[in-house]
Amino acid sequence: MNLDARTLLFSLILTYALSVLSLFIAAYGRNGNSKHDGMDKWAAAMLLEMLAWTLIAGCGVLPDVLSIIAANGFKAASHALILAALYEFQRRKAPHWQYWLPIALTLLLTAILVDDIQGRFIWGGLIYGFQMVLLARALLSDQETRAGRAWRLLFMGVVMIMLVLGLRAVVALFGLSELAQPQNAAPIHPVQIITYIAVMATALLGSIGFVFMVKERTDREIMHLAMIDSLTQIPNRRALMEGAEHTLARRNGLPFAILMIDVDYFKSINDTYGHQTGDEVLRKIAKLLEGRLRGHDFLGRYGGEEFCVIAPETDRNGALVLAESLRGIVDTTPFHIASSELAVSVSIGISLCSSNVARELKELLAESDAALYAAKQAGRNRAICFGMENA
Ligand code: GH3
Ligand code: MG
Ligand code: MG
Repeated sequence: MNLDARTLLFSLILTYALSVLSLFIAAYGRNGNSKHDGMDKWAAAMLLEMLAWTLIAGCGVLPDVLSIIAANGFKAASHALILAALYEFQRRKAPHWQYWLPIALTLLLTAILVDDIQGRFIWGGLIYGFQMVLLARALLSDQETRAGRAWRLLFMGVVMIMLVLGLRAVVALFGLSELAQPQNAAPIHPVQIITYIAVMATALLGSIGFVFMVKERTDREIMHLAMIDSLTQIPNRRALMEGAEHTLARRNGLPFAILMIDVDYFKSINDTYGHQTGDEVLRKIAKLLEGRLRGHDFLGRYGGEEFCVIAPETDRNGALVLAESLRGIVDTTPFHIASSELAVSVSIGISLCSSNVARELKELLAESDAALYAAKQAGRNRAICFGMENA
């Protein structure tokens, strides 16, 4: 295959130009709260990379200070901006030297080695390689980044550049003089072909990967907003009902219980101490209940001051023991809120779905509601099973 250095360089610059365009459009089309996700820094990094390769393409025509020193400075700065974009996305801060030191060293060494292309390949490889290590470390050390899949695209890009830098440094080290020629020279050295293709692939992998990473996190945040109750930070009614339907559908003939939990005289807590104290009580109850659940139980906020527990593989006795434990922990825990000590209790209505009996969730919820009503009628601060109201 006869690949021409100038065509490859042109394609590379075009790839960067299109990445810059798409990233700037994506970065500035966002709404207010997602402005600090690093996307504009990534776009700026691609712009610097594009300028660097444009200067490299001008080697021989432009003065060395531009086509060698400035071009390498732009490349180092572009890697630093990619690191800054990643850290901004992760809402973390990197020490400043991680950005400035490689840029300063690159400028210094390319200025010293302006007539020594072999030396530049080796030293450039070391500095850029170090920047790639910093990027790989930033990717691997953040749990939230690794929660999705898109970071793998970035990681692949980083590894690819490391391999290419290593290859170039080794070839230069062993003095293969054909490589020691301007990047736009003809005939083109195979290592240069590999370099251009790897850089082009990385430009695409990196930019697409970064946009996907931002999208993945936005999706997770939207999912959280849609499924988690903002006051108590436990699943909301929608998530609770989805969990209940799912559990009911997959119970494989095993028994299943629903516990409807309602705070007693909650209106008077609000009336006496104010809504903020009421909210604090709800948060604390959610924490207490959560702490008492068994591994497979599912707690959610059903409505205002009503919580609900979906308890798979639980028969009547199991449900009564669980309900008693939940009622007991709320009853015996003193609520120290806003310099007052409040006594808080809950009433619990239980409905059961016995083994091998098909039931509708709607029916079960109505039964737990009826049992809860009976618990309120019987004096509150107690748990009653549907069908045992008069027991
Ligand atoms: P009972 O023992 O019969 O359950 O009496 P109750 O006072 O708890 O019942 P009621 O349904 O009359 O009152 C519930 C109150 O819960 C009314 C509503 O203003 C309050 N509430 C609902 N959601 C919230 C909330 O998010 N925060 C606060 N502070 N209050 C809430
Ligand atoms: Mg209520
Ligand atoms: Mg109540």
